[in-house]
Amino acid sequence: MKIVIIGGGFAGLNLAKHLAGNPIFNVTLVDKNNYHLFPPLLYQVSTAFIEASNITYPFRRMFQYKENLRFHLGELKEVVASDNKIKTSNGDLSYDILVLAMGTETNYFGLESIEKHALPLKTIDDAIHLRNHLLLNAEKAVRTNDPVDKCRLQNIVISGGGPTGVEVSGMLAEMIQSLINKDYPELKEADANIYLISSGNALLGPMSKKSQAEAYKVLDKLGVQVKLNTAVKGYINGDVHLSNGGCIPAATLVWTSGVIARQVPGLPNDCIGRGNRIIVDEFNKVKGAENIFAIGDQCLQTTDADYPNGHPQLAQVAIQQGFCLASNLKRLHSGQVLKPFKYKNKGSMAIISKYKAVVDLPKAFFKGLPAWLVWLFVHIIPIVGFGNKVKLAYNWFLSLMTNDPALRLIIRPKK
Ligand SMILES: Cc1cc2nc3c(=O)[nH]c(=O)nc-3n(C[C@H](O)[C@H](O)[C@H](O)COP(=O)(O)OP(=O)(O)OC[C@H]3O[C@@H](n4cnc5c(N)ncnc54)[C@H](O)[C@@H]3O)c2cc1C
Repeated sequence: MKIVIIGGGFAGLNLAKHLAGNPIFNVTLVDKNNYHLFPPLLYQVSTAFIEASNITYPFRRMFQYKENLRFHLGELKEVVASDNKIKTSNGDLSYDILVLAMGTETNYFGLESIEKHALPLKTIDDAIHLRNHLLLNAEKAVRTNDPVDKCRLQNIVISGGGPTGVEVSGMLAEMIQSLINKDYPELKEADANIYLISSGNALLGPMSKKSQAEAYKVLDKLGVQVKLNTAVKGYINGDVHLSNGGCIPAATLVWTSGVIARQVPGLPNDCIGRGNRIIVDEFNKVKGAENIFAIGDQCLQTTDADYPNGHPQLAQVAIQQGFCLASNLKRLHSGQVLKPFKYKNKGSMAIISKYKAVVDLPKAFFKGLPAWLVWLFVHIIPIVGFGNKVKLAYNWFLSLMTNDPALRLIIRPKK
């Protein structure tokens, strides 16, 4: 049976891994990048804390010695369901079963000035671009004698009070304090700030009230100016315009305010739901299709009684859906009854700053150092590759002990 999986994120990769070694399935994983990415640690790459290679792993290396797994580098261009084939930027592929697992992309909600000038944080390229941008601005701030310009170059606005916004704010606040003291003594006197803007009435929206309050308290202590019930409306000539009429001069606007599922040309409109997500049934089969499935962030499944509006777009959901679909494809092949997907919530967590995190378990909450240690452990386990786990642990250890990560390199692609 020819299975084509588009997207090697948590969902697609887990599906492929659970079909590996089963000769019934001839699996081709298609991805526009040649590596798997671990997005929850992207912000640590953008803040020069860890290396990009710590959170990426090449697919072809992963598929070594897996006879029934193949990799195709290419971007999906169109699904031609009538011919059971897909068109990619690098040629066509035919399938018996197609699985869509392309995740999401940044949503700018139609705000053109933001799309043009803000910095998203979804890909490795985004993370390295943000790192370069912050370092280049610090160099420019050293050179200028105009105090207003100096301040604008150093001000950072982060839009979005979810886990990514909170994690980026906390880490930047700490990094900038130590960076300025050590590397940029010329900037010590500048009156620069980090602002975290959230349209919600609390940070870490989907987490418990205790986690939300702790995040606010820790960030406030670090000097981050948190503005709740406020949205970023525009970013024009280096000024961030807010919904309350306010304006912040800032050379950096980090946009973590929303995502939208990636579009799939060729799919009929009536199978696309809220947030562009592909509507699937309880077995992740795409509405109206016979042999097309969708898993992970890209799909909208409302059949799980505990999640009538669809599952949260989280790594655990994607991992569990990949695993469930692998078992169902095996059942399908042997003529057994398929099992509906049911998400098991194992809890959620967010890091706020060095030694401070929050963990919400289904029946418990904890914070501070214990939560931070749990966070480190939980985030090192799913990193692909033993070497990557060791390198990541080493980089963390070094950066934490010295408070002086050595990755502050400005690397720009040759145009
Ligand atoms: C900065 C950040 C921090 C996060 N932190 C957390 C966290 O702490 N905890 C948590 O649970 N979740 C977190 N998430 C969410 C989590 O990463 C997603 O829920 C998860 O990655 C979804 O997995 P997926 O497989 O559906 O999609 P993805 O992991 O996004 O994978 C999609 C894959 O499809 C590929 N692709 C995309 N378009 C195409 C195309 N046209 N053609 C071919 N290939 C394509 C991509 O290259 C990628 O490999 C975070 C996300 C981000 C961006």
